Amino acid sequence: MNGTPWRDAPRAEYAVLGDPIGHSLSPAMHNAAYASLELPLRYEALQVPAGELALALDHLAALGYRGVNVTLPLKEEALGWAESASPMAVRVGAANTLHLARRHAENTDAPGFMEALAGLASFAEGTRKALVLGAGGSARAVVAALDDAGWDVRVWARRHERAVELAAALGGRAVQVPDPEGAHLLVNTTSAGLAGEAPTVLWDRAQPGTHLMDLAYGGAARPFLEAAQSRGLAGCDGTAMLVAQGALALESWLGTRAPREVMLLAIL
Ligand code: NDP
Repeated sequence: MNGTPWRDAPRAEYAVLGDPIGHSLSPAMHNAAYASLELPLRYEALQVPAGELALALDHLAALGYRGVNVTLPLKEEALGWAESASPMAVRVGAANTLHLARRHAENTDAPGFMEALAGLASFAEGTRKALVLGAGGSARAVVAALDDAGWDVRVWARRHERAVELAAALGGRAVQVPDPEGAHLLVNTTSAGLAGEAPTVLWDRAQPGTHLMDLAYGGAARPFLEAAQSRGLAGCDGTAMLVAQGALALESWLGTRAPREVMLLAIL
């Protein structure tokens, strides 16, 4: 099951586009929010391969779609399609939320991550240090958001040159070894968990009380969170971030407060 191909899209107002997309939790989350707000709207999951975004968006706009979320592999293409973009989308170089009529792009992953982080713990200003694992698309949003919020950010990637490029573009500094010493926060943005693996963090060097977040959710977050747990550290998966980025997209489209609790319950 890989979602409906965009050429077969049913009539609706909003959608998430990606490839693959069948696994997406976004339709359940957004449709539950519309029901709770008593809005006669529908949100679909549509398969859009790389390179077909502009064509798909023209087709969807003609069908009456007003906005879309985009995920892998379309986030950079989405920014290229837009005629205007939020400062964060421009900074990250990727967008996950589009307004079709005004060809406007936003990135709600970065503020969504910060919202989830605020729910995880409160960190004293001034001395906040984070180690970010991975240098893919979501790492860009996380590093930009933490850097903007004044965190001291280290970035580790299995291909060091990718961490160097990311840090040069977005802030923080690249490190050769995933050494959590001194870090108050450890964020796993790698997709290692999808293969049942976790990055080989030097766990013995983590200080007690270090907070952890894996951006993946469900089973994909388990290898990292279990490795941390076996060293006495606790953390959360990416569910809160998923809800927050979706809630911020809904608020941008509809101008009304998103029912986060309802959205969370819809995907648990
Ligand atoms: P990308 O493919 O852009 O990046 C994945 C990164 O993981 C790359 O740096 C890759 O390295 C690295 N990686 C993969 N396997 C390993 C491994 N075994 N050891 C070390 N590093 C590894 O993916 P995204 O950044 O878009 O997404 C990453 C995760 O975040 C996914 O699980 C996704 O579902 C989740 N996510 C969650 C969100 C939420 O709202 N909760 C939002 C966005 C993403 P290399 O380049 O060398 O292959």
